[in-house]
Amino acid sequence: MIKFNDLKKNNDRFQEEFKIAFGSFLNSGWYILGKQVDKFEKEFAAYCGTKYCIGVGNGLDAIALILKGYKELGKLNDGDEIIVPANTYIATILAIIEAGLKPILVEPNIESYNISIEEIKQNITKKTKGIMAVHLYGRLADMEIINKIAKENNLLVFEDAAQAHGATSQNNLKAGNLSDAGAFSFYPTKNLGALGDGGAITTSDKDLYNCIRSIANYGSIIKDQNDIKGTNSRLDEIQAAFLSIKLKKLDDDNLMRISFAKKYLKLIDNSKFTLPCLNENPIDNIFHIFPIRCKTRDDLAMYLKEHRIQTGIHYPTPPHKQKAFTEWNHLSYPTTEKIHSEIISIPLNPTLKTSEIETIINVLNKY
Ligand SMILES: *Cc1c(COP(=O)(O)O)cnc(C)c1O
Repeated sequence: MIKFNDLKKNNDRFQEEFKIAFGSFLNSGWYILGKQVDKFEKEFAAYCGTKYCIGVGNGLDAIALILKGYKELGKLNDGDEIIVPANTYIATILAIIEAGLKPILVEPNIESYNISIEEIKQNITKKTKGIMAVHLYGRLADMEIINKIAKENNLLVFEDAAQAHGATSQNNLKAGNLSDAGAFSFYPTKNLGALGDGGAITTSDKDLYNCIRSIANYGSIIKDQNDIKGTNSRLDEIQAAFLSIKLKKLDDDNLMRISFAKKYLKLIDNSKFTLPCLNENPIDNIFHIFPIRCKTRDDLAMYLKEHRIQTGIHYPTPPHKQKAFTEWNHLSYPTTEKIHSEIISIPLNPTLKTSEIETIINVLNKY
């Protein structure tokens, strides 16, 4: 069976280094907010090109904390509208709601699967205060245009970069450094994945940085002095130690993903499929997943399973059609719904063998 994502195989590559790191962690007797988190935050900020990085509990928290931070700073207020793509993973939307803001769902572009610029323009109202861009499937949203629109309308811009660690723009800026603040997840399956939950915020906004530092630690910077009503969201020392080790391999892993993706794009030849469109700039998409659209998606998934190829669906149901959002169930987002009914992800990760990629291509071409 060619697995969709073999996490054991992925992490086995770091086994020796992980064991050494765990040994020193155990010896240190220090588990939370220590040297490992501090070190990783510095490394990840340097990697992304931002002044600051804050390790937090997970990706959802990272998004919510950015918004809560800007509320604390008075730049956002309860009920303000945040524009967000309707086809994102539900976490993006839940985080906006958790922060007491109002998500305004807008359609993506059918070619890039990222938020449509036209749709952003059409949905800006007096209440709009921010745009939450999502670099879905590892491909950067059109940040240059989004930032321009934001400037014209006096809006904040955020990136949900949970699927885009290392994606780099034409101007050589990385995901997380293309807006006021970026949110990352280190969920094990992400391009940079921990061995448990983890997340981070990147920003060059000093006020936001100081504010989130406090909010994420019970509203406290100085022990037992609580200045604001905070929460608890921290990156574990051991996860930070593992992430420091894996960060060194992130660029290589992303290049491997890109080279496999190029192979797929060149050699998959079947009129039943719509492949992701090619970019002029090859590293603005680090292919967190490789999505194909097919009108007979469920049948294709069965066919691939019969040929011992595991697939994934990102995602089967759009947020506005979920039971959790009955108030939105009547809404119609035709592009989003089309994507969700046709999309399927084939295996693409740095631990695949070239022979496995070739098998997948052959099987797909015979469908
Ligand atoms: C994974 C993911 C999240 C949430 O990250 P967690 O660490 O699971 O909370 C948010 N947004 C997107 C686009 C994601 O892929």
